[in-house]
Amino acid sequence: MQLLDGKKTATEIKLEVAEEIKRVKAKGGKIPHLVAVLVGSNGASITYVNAKIAACEKVGMHSTIVRLNDTVSEKELLEEVDRLNKDEEIDGFIVQLPLPKHISDKKVTEAISPEKDVDGFHPWNIGKMMLNLPTFLPATPFGILQLIERYNIETNGKHCVVVGRSSIVGSPIANLMSRNSYPGNCTVTLTHSRTVNLKEITLSADILIVALGKPEFITADMVKDGVVVFDVGITRKADKSKKSGYKLYGDVDFDGVAEKASFITPVPGGVGPMTIVSLLKNTLLAAKGK
Ligand code: NDP
Repeated sequence: MQLLDGKKTATEIKLEVAEEIKRVKAKGGKIPHLVAVLVGSNGASITYVNAKIAACEKVGMHSTIVRLNDTVSEKELLEEVDRLNKDEEIDGFIVQLPLPKHISDKKVTEAISPEKDVDGFHPWNIGKMMLNLPTFLPATPFGILQLIERYNIETNGKHCVVVGRSSIVGSPIANLMSRNSYPGNCTVTLTHSRTVNLKEITLSADILIVALGKPEFITADMVKDGVVVFDVGITRKADKSKKSGYKLYGDVDFDGVAEKASFITPVPGGVGPMTIVSLLKNTLLAAKGK
């Protein structure tokens, strides 16, 4: 079994992005600027946004957090999005999800200018992705594609099973893995909570991408020998022995599945760091697009 080390790969990619930013700077160009809008005080969201901002600093990119109280109205948030759309100094921005219940994720996502949508969630960008046109790919699927490339994983003709059909992970990665390109050219099965006989399907997977948010859901008896596994899931469980007060769990029972897998991502240190680095790459692209 070989570990798909997202942390190490993300560090390598960050160095490449930092080099590119240095070159832009040397030519007197504009340093890319990413803004993260954070609504409320959800612990996981704060951790994710801080990690994204820290990554920007590491590569020499400008970054700003816009913090809004969870009592902010949908109208006020949409006004903030409009301000960011119009601000010439800002190349790309994200609104960290989930949002409080009184605000529509859909409305906010659709209000973001597609040219600044570095999370790649806007319907315009999703449509371009479906048509295989150049665009911002959603950060987590983009991160998985980069891991596949960096580890030279064969995808041509393979059976790729995706567990979970969310619009930010499962559905886009299923589309990307079926494209006529590398990574891609897989025969893809997209599964979800209504799938019958899931185990029968996962057992035939050459590549298994799991994003359902249920800790250690995929067990060794559900996979075949030699499978390549991408575990997207991140669930926090209280753990007093940890300094942070919690432990992170993936959707895959790592110890059991690793014994059968040819490649596998750990949690943490697998898909997570690759998601962040993809956001940096999309921001660089947004700045260049200008
Ligand atoms: P969602 O909750 O939006 O979607 C979960 C999907 O899993 C749904 O399609 C659901 O099916 C499916 N599902 C639920 N139960 C089952 C089941 N028993 N069998 C098969 N499918 C099932 O999840 P997200 O995609 O947003 O996130 C998934 C996980 O990935 C979470 O733990 C999240 O924290 C993590 N994540 C990690 C990221 C990273 O950077 N590493 C980035 C984004 C998310 P149905 O549609 O029928 O309800």
